[in-house]
Amino acid sequence: MVTNKVLKSSLKALKEFAKRRLPDLELIALDERDECPLEIIRDMCAPDKLGIQLLFIPEEYGGLGGGTFDFYRICEELARIDLGVATAVFATFLGSDPIFFGATPEQKKLWITRMADEGQIYAYGATEPDAGSDLGALKSTAERVMDGDKIVGYKISGLKQWISNGGIADMYTILAATPSGPTWFVVEKGAKGFSYDKPENKHGIRLSNTAALALDNVYVDANRVVGCVEGQGLIQAQMVFGYTRLMVAAFGLGGGWAALDRAIPYSTKRIQAGAPLSEKQGYTHKLIVPHVARLEAGRAYIEETAERIDAGEGENGKLNTEGAIAKFMATEAGNAAAEASIQALGGYGYTHEYMVEKIKRDVKITTIYEGTSEIMEMTISRDRWQLHLKTRGQHYHEQARAMESLHAFKPGLGANIAALSLHALAEVMEKCRAMRLTRHQHILLRLGELIAYAECAGSLCRRAARAADNKLNEKASLRFDAKALAALARVFAREAALKVTEEGLRWVAGADGVSDSEMAAFEAAIGLNAIHRVQAGLLADMDYVADVLYNRVAKPVAASA
Ligand SMILES: Cc1cc2nc3c(=O)[nH]c(=O)nc-3n(C[C@H](O)[C@H](O)[C@H](O)COP(=O)(O)OP(=O)(O)OC[C@H]3O[C@@H](n4cnc5c(N)ncnc54)[C@H](O)[C@@H]3O)c2cc1C
Repeated sequence: MVTNKVLKSSLKALKEFAKRRLPDLELIALDERDECPLEIIRDMCAPDKLGIQLLFIPEEYGGLGGGTFDFYRICEELARIDLGVATAVFATFLGSDPIFFGATPEQKKLWITRMADEGQIYAYGATEPDAGSDLGALKSTAERVMDGDKIVGYKISGLKQWISNGGIADMYTILAATPSGPTWFVVEKGAKGFSYDKPENKHGIRLSNTAALALDNVYVDANRVVGCVEGQGLIQAQMVFGYTRLMVAAFGLGGGWAALDRAIPYSTKRIQAGAPLSEKQGYTHKLIVPHVARLEAGRAYIEETAERIDAGEGENGKLNTEGAIAKFMATEAGNAAAEASIQALGGYGYTHEYMVEKIKRDVKITTIYEGTSEIMEMTISRDRWQLHLKTRGQHYHEQARAMESLHAFKPGLGANIAALSLHALAEVMEKCRAMRLTRHQHILLRLGELIAYAECAGSLCRRAARAADNKLNEKASLRFDAKALAALARVFAREAALKVTEEGLRWVAGADGVSDSEMAAFEAAIGLNAIHRVQAGLLADMDYVADVLYNRVAKPVAASA
């Protein structure tokens, strides 16, 4: 188990390592040369140097036995440094996941101990040229090699596409189809018949090595089947999505904040029309404040989900939908925040030197890998649709009532507004059910987005309440105090409520799900007027958040998380 003290010292060591080895000028140069800093990545993984992967390796295999919450904090920090380097570390974590979750005790002891002791770099080989979002379409095969009746090994053939660490890994977990279905195999670098292509020339994360793999009759012994049972590959991959998607969510958070933390100080020094940009409401309330609110809504959801996984609720993929919500919200928010940060720096933002354009190129990948945003929307929507049906439409009304109770107990956190958005969501979903609107795939996916906003609004209100009671997780990010979190919660709840009602109405009406004569009743059911009325106070809250961000209030925010 990792104590808060150990987590803090790991975060500190990571920051110091980055300061020494990856200063801005070096990052810009590596990005321009499209170069993966292999020696630095090896030093990050070497147990006698930074040994960052030790944090997620269980103690029994020589690691520190960190939990989900610890790794979320580390992932955010890694992403703040450089998302390419973060991806290299994450790929080792991802590549070893099928082993963590599917291997026999003997296999774990062998492979995970080596990962801890030797700082081995892993790659995760699932995607293929024709099998991306739809992994079931994979074509790589593993042909059994028999000795009489006994399977003694396999010959793996096929192509893998976009594999992070593809050209630098020591070990590869490869998904290939056996006669009993997709199965994970552990393949060592240099195996006969195994090769990798030159690194891809990418839009961003240019410090990460991404390469295609080719396997031409690569022989592996039968004991290299993860778990020693064929056909478990897709189940093993599914089991960890709650966890792995949370880590990519943390990347979105880190990337978004890395960009904003450049835009915010820049705007205090840049004088236009006689005053710093930071004093111009039209600037801060468009380019900074809403992005901070969305990122912190994503954080609230990440932290809640991390706590639930650490409490054992995530077993067998039970929190995969929560992982998808966190990933969707935090990576889309991170991407938008980085885009706004370029704008916030004007012409300077458009140049390499100021870094925000690199961060923007980098953070975009978080909305694509480990499941695209559209696949997240589909995952979220399908699961919550089942809950809507099972509870006869009451699921989100119940969540709304919980928010109303929170508001009664603790007013001022925006929980009443979050309640309105959850009630509206329940009504929109019910209309979709009655009119069979989810036969339109677009409606199904748009619901996914609305669900993510409504759930994250609730989560941020709960986080603000815990902060007010001094009950945040001791490992939580403490960037904002309780009062600032309450203002952020109100800002985001208003946005979520407006989005759920107006977009919900748009798509229901757009699919001809509500007639002219029913429109007034539907608008009342989703609380359109009430949601317009609770926008009152929005500007004052945004002013306050801006004052907090620019240290213009009596109690300043901490300089770093
Ligand atoms: C830099 C980088 C690193 C990567 N690292 C790894 C790695 O280490 N290991 C690994 O296995 N993979 C890796 N990937 C692969 C990554 O996970 C896939 O790119 C991703 O899952 C999307 O698959 P795809 O590229 O085939 O796109 P597609 O699945 O073809 O999707 C293209 C577009 O269509 C949308 N779409 C897809 N299906 C549907 C649908 N049913 N309905 C509506 N819209 C849909 C998608 O959202 C997307 O916008 C990496 C990719 C990149 C770019």
